[in-house]
This record gives sequence, C-alpha cells and structure tokens, in this order.
Amino acid sequence: MSNEKKELTQLADIGEFGLIEKLTKDISIKNKSTVKGIGDDAAVLDYDQKEMVVTTDFLIEGVHFDMVYTPLKHLGYKAVTVNISDVYAMNAIPKQVTVSIALSNRFSLEAIETLYEGIKMACEHYNVDLIGGDTVSSVTGLTISVTALGEVEKGKAVLRSTAKPGNLVCVTGDLGAAYAGLQILKREKEVYLVNPNSQPDMSGYDYVLERQLKPECRKDVIEGLKKNGIVPTAMIDISDGLSSEILHICKQSGTGVKLFEDKIPVDVQTMMVAEELNLDTTLLAMNGGEDYELLFTIAASDENKINEIEGVSVIGEILEDKKELKLYGRGEGSTTIQAQGWNAYKK
Ligand code: ADP
Ligand code: MG
Repeated sequence: MSNEKKELTQLADIGEFGLIEKLTKDISIKNKSTVKGIGDDAAVLDYDQKEMVVTTDFLIEGVHFDMVYTPLKHLGYKAVTVNISDVYAMNAIPKQVTVSIALSNRFSLEAIETLYEGIKMACEHYNVDLIGGDTVSSVTGLTISVTALGEVEKGKAVLRSTAKPGNLVCVTGDLGAAYAGLQILKREKEVYLVNPNSQPDMSGYDYVLERQLKPECRKDVIEGLKKNGIVPTAMIDISDGLSSEILHICKQSGTGVKLFEDKIPVDVQTMMVAEELNLDTTLLAMNGGEDYELLFTIAASDENKINEIEGVSVIGEILEDKKELKLYGRGEGSTTIQAQGWNAYKK
C-alpha cells in the first residue's frame, strides 16, 4: 500500500462484538460486591447487608457536549464523574458503573478507545468497576449513558427532603467556574468558525476550562464528613446551579432558606471571566451549573466540626417559613432565590 499514514479503523470493519472486546479486554474487578462483571447477559452483584443506590444520566452530542471543543478522553472521564457525584450526594460509596454508547459510523475505533481511556481513568480514580453496558449504532452522533451503583449502610442515605429549620447550609469548593469555562470555549469556537486558521487563545483560563472539561466530584469531602463524625441532614450535588439545588432541598424539606452573597465561594479566575464577559459574578455562581460540588445542610451544633474540613463554606441557614427563600446581598437588601438552572443565559 502506498498510503503510509496510520489508518483509522472503521467500526464497520470490526463489528459490534469486536468493538466491545477491544474496549473491555483489560478490565479487572476492584470491589468485592462485583461477583460477575462484563461478559454475560447481566452482571452479578452482592451487596450483603448494605443498601444500594442507583443513578443514571445521559450525555447527548449537541445537547450536553460539543465535539468541536470536547476532547473524547475528557468526555469519557466526565460521563463517569457526573454519575459518581450523584452517588456521593446520597452519602454512598460508588462501586460499579455501566456505560452504554450509541455511535454513528463517523467515529473510528481509535476515537472510541480514546473515549474509553477517559472512562477507565475515572473508574480507577474513584475505584469503581465497569461491569457492563450496551453498544449500538446511531445516525446522529454520539450518545453516552452511564449508570452508577453504590453502597451505603442501611438507613444512612442522605436525602434532599430532611433539612430542618436552624440547620446550616454548606457548599464545597467554589461555584460558577464550569460555566465560565464553557463561555470561553464557546467564544473561541466562534472565533475559529470565522477564521479556521486562528489559534484559540486559552492562556490564563486553565482553571475554568478544567472545571468544565474535566470536573471532579467531592469524594474527599464525603470522607472528611465521615472522619469528623458529621452526618448531613440533607444533601444534593450541584449540577444545575446553586439556586436550583437549594430550592430542591427547601421544597422537598418544606422549609425556607437565607443565603449570604458574600459567603458564596467563587474563584478569582471565575471573577475575571465574569468581568471580561460582562456577567454578574453572583448570578454566575448561583446559576452556572455543572460544578459537581456538594450542597448540604448540617445541625448548627456541628459548626465547629465543619470548619475542620477543608473546602467547605457555610453560606446560610434553613428557615421554618417555606415562603422565605432569600439571598442577602452585600448591602442592605435581599432578593428571592429563583431557579434559572444551567440554561439561565440562553437566549
Ligand atoms: P447482550 O447481547 O446480552 O446485550 P452484548 O453483546 O451487548 O450482550 O454485551 C456483551 C457484554 O459486554 C455484556 O456483559 C455487556 O454488559 C458488555 N458491554 C456491551 N457494551 C459495552 C460497553 N459499551 N461498555 C462496557 N461493557 C459493554
Ligand atoms: Mg447489548
């Protein structure tokens, strides 16, 4: 053959079973609750005396990610991470995932292997077993669906519905960065579409880009809570933005809340991007979404203990009156919290 370049392998050449074999051949089992993983009609799990939590999410090309600026390895990593985040948000320990993919034939074997590198990297990082999935063809692009399973001691799962008046509202990490990162990626895509020879200018945006493309979930905080003997009274992970998530807790718990603007943690790089793009920093932090931080409530008597855990901010208090849903600004006034969610800035 005259063509010396490394040819990409067409999926049609290896078929469904060939692809599954390539993707799953080097997977080994890490958890004792996994009795049988990939390779049969179903996986077999043994959760013994524990309770099991199950959660699932879809990622659809063009809706949840854009192939122009999403590296496949990062996408695989993120697909697993966002599900693991939901398991931690129940105060459970993630143990297994299944991964289902729908692929159009514009993807090569090599591309899907890159996606799986990211998937396997996240499985290593969070110590979960990849125990199965499904592989189908699609006419419209790439769809990934991940299901995560985890374990928790009987009765110890932390729900959204159990916050109590007087509880303190806590949030991990900082907020708004993932949304800020997405705005930078979108801006550079526009520049590229106008002038395909231009080089994207990503310098100085490393933190917000990483928060968008390769989010981590707060395994460390769940461990820190356990170590310090704190059981949150209610918990949720922040996928759609702080406003939306705190309203879920309040609605389901039948409570109100007051949050303090000056307590909401925001990274300096997020502030910088907000200024550059003419966005209000607080609006970004409240409604940005995709932070995958944890929002939880604790008994007021745990206040000293919570200060021991790195990366947790106390940002407010749960109130008795369920009609009181207030954000207190830096000045005198307060505003009512509204759920705008991750599509807050969509035209
Ligand atoms: P079935 O015909 O029973 O659906 P498959 O041939 O689809 O079986 O899958 C064979 C095995 O490979 C099963 O254990 C399944 O869970 C696993 N599997 C299939 N697709 C994937 C994938 N994309 N990622 C991980 N495991 C997969
Ligand atoms: Mg199948």
